[in-house]
Amino acid sequence: MSAIIIDGVAMAKQVLAEQKARADKLAQQARPPGLAVVLVGDDQASAVYVRSKERACRDAGVRTFDTRLPATTTEAELLQKVDALNRDPQVHGILVQLPLPAHINAVTVLQRIALAKDVDGFTWRSLGALLDGHPNLAPCTPSGSMLMLERSGVPIAGRHAVVIGRSSIVGKPAALMLLERNATVTICHSRTTDLAAMTRQADILICAIGRSRMVTADMIKPGAAVVDVGINRSADGKLCGDVDFDAVRERAGWITPVPGGVGPMTVAMVIANVITAAERTIG
Ligand code: NDP
Repeated sequence: MSAIIIDGVAMAKQVLAEQKARADKLAQQARPPGLAVVLVGDDQASAVYVRSKERACRDAGVRTFDTRLPATTTEAELLQKVDALNRDPQVHGILVQLPLPAHINAVTVLQRIALAKDVDGFTWRSLGALLDGHPNLAPCTPSGSMLMLERSGVPIAGRHAVVIGRSSIVGKPAALMLLERNATVTICHSRTTDLAAMTRQADILICAIGRSRMVTADMIKPGAAVVDVGINRSADGKLCGDVDFDAVRERAGWITPVPGGVGPMTVAMVIANVITAAERTIG
């Protein structure tokens, strides 16, 4: 059996087209939705991510407000910038691109973003709302992963979902979202004693580890849906996920590729959150 490949590029394109219709309506009613992207320093990978988000914004009719600050920016200066964006009525969402330079406390900065503009969904209040089953703006990588499962017709309710990874931005929120949709959820991490014994029980397996091709075919239950969140560089310098794609696709029922899977969907969900935030404010 060869798995259905869930094409994140095609699905993200479709999601962005849906967002464009919402954004155009807002622009006609009042003003276009606006996203402020704050980039501190000159990390090359961050600059690439920021450019891809800005491109997607343009395609979806979302205005971007670009803030590039030098690596020498102090934490106080950055907090002032966030405060100004919190007050700006043209800005409906704020993204502070991580990583920040080492002298800036990322937690302090992220917590300063107004709840209504927290389109990454990383503030404690957004995460708390998710925990309580009343999501504000949900974290984009897990919500993109969920949409990939849902739109591919993967059954979730009553199924056993295993999430590898317990970060606050991917693993834990993904587990909460699966729980909310009535899956039975197991969370695994680096101290899990027998990882393969857990993953072999998974009808749905979310891999958010950050280890090149660590999840191998013998760890997969035949027919399972496998979502590969990982973004890694293999020894030959190529982009790859946490899953050994070529072998696992022969055993799984559904699989997301890397690149072209969760990554583009994450960007699309950021845009969807900006528009939701704008609809709440303008509406
Ligand atoms: P973190 O490093 O914060 O978390 C990784 C998790 O994996 C931790 O919980 C860790 O366990 C667990 N882990 C590490 N090694 C093992 C192991 N050998 N066995 C089992 N569990 C293990 O990473 P993130 O959650 O931020 O990101 C995970 C991956 O997803 C990365 O590759 C990242 O680049 C990618 N990513 C992709 C995005 C996208 O848009 N596609 C967006 C965000 C992230 P422990 O807690 O015990 O240390």
